Amino acid sequence: NKYIAIRSHIDGAPQESDFELKTEALSVSIEPGCNDVVVKTLYVSIDPYQINRMKKFSSSQKTSTFAVAINPGQAIDAFGVGRVVASGHPGFEKDDLVAGVISWGEYSIVRGGNMLNKLDSMGFPLSYHVGILGFSGLTAYGGFFHICNPKKGEKVFVSAASGSVGNLVGQYAKLFGCYVVGCAGSQKKVELLKEKLGFDDAFNYKEETDLKSTLKRYFPEGIDIYFDNVGAEMLEAAVANMNTYGRVAVCGVISEYTDTKKRAAPDMIDVVYKRIKIHGFLAGDLMNLYADFLSTTIDYLRTGKIQAIEDISHGLENVPSAFIGLFCGDNVGKKIVKVTDD
Ligand code: NDP
Repeated sequence: NKYIAIRSHIDGAPQESDFELKTEALSVSIEPGCNDVVVKTLYVSIDPYQINRMKKFSSSQKTSTFAVAINPGQAIDAFGVGRVVASGHPGFEKDDLVAGVISWGEYSIVRGGNMLNKLDSMGFPLSYHVGILGFSGLTAYGGFFHICNPKKGEKVFVSAASGSVGNLVGQYAKLFGCYVVGCAGSQKKVELLKEKLGFDDAFNYKEETDLKSTLKRYFPEGIDIYFDNVGAEMLEAAVANMNTYGRVAVCGVISEYTDTKKRAAPDMIDVVYKRIKIHGFLAGDLMNLYADFLSTTIDYLRTGKIQAIEDISHGLENVPSAFIGLFCGDNVGKKIVKVTDD
């Protein structure tokens, strides 16, 4: 079995030299009733939050982190889609398609079938079940509708708007009847947002020098909802431009993940006087919305109202570059690695 591991804990932006492709003999005996499931990986999700698990944790951090630390040399668990090759679990049979927590490796032994579900592709490409119909979709849907509590006609700003979660937030918000502006890191991405995904407007944040006045330009009447994927100075600028009773959904703060000196310091006096709600959330807490999210999104996909934007690399050996690329803005839409065809 081949799998990707980190060589040592990562401090700052990840680099190729931080990773290695390891080989192990897969010694597994699956007895009936043992409940373990061996899964061959087909597609794996590449997610920014994994970098926070790769850092060296202090003992106090360990308890406050929602995801378990990744240790050097270990297989890295990740969401993905695969096929069962052996099962001692009554709920899974050989050749079943499954989605759930597997690993950045060719094979995973899923103990007790934990966090693994049988997958009905419903006629969609399997990669959709990693992205738009998987956690990215749930994050965007739950984050926007449940955390932001939108009203039709409200003005919505989304950062990392061409990314996996961001592009879907913008598309849901447009379908709901909001005015939506996104920011992204290149002209090509800005064009995608405006021309293909129906955003009302978009800008390249890398070309702006004063984000507060940039947002004032795009939202002369203020922002009602800010869906934050990046943190730091963009969050500060958004808060400065929020309307009274504005809502900020803090989905992630990617610009802070690789830079320990970068931390958002929004003007808290503004927050108080404008009664702004700043709400962090995790998609894992929104599972009660899953059925609603899935039926709505499937309907939007079948009627062509929503688009799945994917960025797929091929081969396990390309997992590190795919992951590193997230922090350089290389990806457009959901970053996925297709590990094998079978
Ligand atoms: P994306 O597909 O959005 O990929 C990351 C993108 O972030 C890049 O393409 C890049 O786009 C942008 N980016 C990278 N570095 C910076 C930087 N320094 N400043 C500004 N933008 C940057 O990833 P996801 O959609 O998977 O994740 C988006 C955010 O949502 C992340 O913060 C992630 O941790 C969070 N998340 C949270 C979840 C939750 O449950 N709360 C679940 C899933 C994701 P660009 O070219 O525009 O710079």
